[in-house]
Amino acid sequence: MDIICRERTCVYNKGFSCSKRKILIGDKINCTDYEKKPDLKELEDTSREVFGPTPPKYHAHRESKKGCIHCEAKCLFRNEQTCEANGITINKLNGKPLCVTYFKE
Ligand code: SF4
Ligand code: SF4
Repeated sequence: MDIICRERTCVYNKGFSCSKRKILIGDKINCTDYEKKPDLKELEDTSREVFGPTPPKYHAHRESKKGCIHCEAKCLFRNEQTCEANGITINKLNGKPLCVTYFKE
């Protein structure tokens, strides 16, 4: 289960990949496990330059069977309290880390 995340101020963000094994997405599709880095120093946003001559280094995607996403949103990919998508993408929208893989039930 891959979690791609563009919330660069979170302590669990490692090269746009979430390093946390278990996360909970709330009913408003927000990542409830977001933890702001203590130094408040944002990583450089290199995601827009991915097709440039020198692509940025990304953390290898983790296809982990141990990863688990619990979710409270009314989404097509949710089965009981668990996300069953192959992977999800979290984007920072209106200052919040939100699941943009959400598909209204
Ligand atoms: S905001 Fe959520 S998904 Fe993104 S790195 Fe932090 S814990 Fe992981
Ligand atoms: S894809 Fe749907 S079920 Fe999975 S975490 Fe996002 S909102 Fe929840």
